[in-house]
Amino acid sequence: MATQLKRNSKYSEAEWTARQELAACYRIFAMMGWDEMIFNHITVKLEDQEGAFLINPYGMHFSEVTASSLIKIDIDGNKLDEDNPWHVNKAGFVQHSLFHRVLPDAHAIIHTHTTATMAVCGLEGGLQPTNFYACNFMGQLAYHDFEGVTVREEEGERLVEHLGNKRILMLRNHGPVVMGKSLSDAFIKYWALQRACEIQLATMSMGKPILVDEEVIKVHQRDLYMAAIPGQSGKAEFDAMVRKVDKIDTSWRD
Ligand SMILES: [Zn+2]
Repeated sequence: MATQLKRNSKYSEAEWTARQELAACYRIFAMMGWDEMIFNHITVKLEDQEGAFLINPYGMHFSEVTASSLIKIDIDGNKLDEDNPWHVNKAGFVQHSLFHRVLPDAHAIIHTHTTATMAVCGLEGGLQPTNFYACNFMGQLAYHDFEGVTVREEEGERLVEHLGNKRILMLRNHGPVVMGKSLSDAFIKYWALQRACEIQLATMSMGKPILVDEEVIKVHQRDLYMAAIPGQSGKAEFDAMVRKVDKIDTSWRD
């Protein structure tokens, strides 16, 4: 994705690039219908500023987010952008802050409430090997039982324990938390998980699904890399979606 540098910008080049990428990501989510009114968050760590993160302004729809309206916050959710008039949903940042804090590789974190992912999070057995995309994730998802709205810090210990060495946590009866080494990496994982859940929902609504055999899942996961595009994980796919967003509106770049 080509970034445009702002003239006389108050942002570093790295921050402006991160802002544009994240704003574009919010627009992709809105375009795909993965938004939840003014709720849910996608957050990224600012690589050139220790302990600084970007989050969506609380009250703004994903389809309205722009590079400069994103709010820079510290790990506790305090605003570092004094002149940004928007509020931060500090409660919503609690689980993001926890994972950003304890996992150095969690550069980008996505949490949604889409119907398909929430439905699978509320199903006994969770995601099942009933389709191609679901097979990507078998053995790679962690689950955490519902304890009410995730705003209490004392739940953190259990969230981290249940996540273990996985990087996707299915919050039961709630929704997924997807972490990535980069924003495009988190995006492509999220996209495949969303598709896996949508198709499981459709399959199970028709009758008894065919479960893929464990041996076949192993072969599938072993050979998946052959279908991947060389370069940064999810980058080509992300850029293609940004071009689609640009056909709707390019205001996210500002
Ligand atoms: Zn939530």
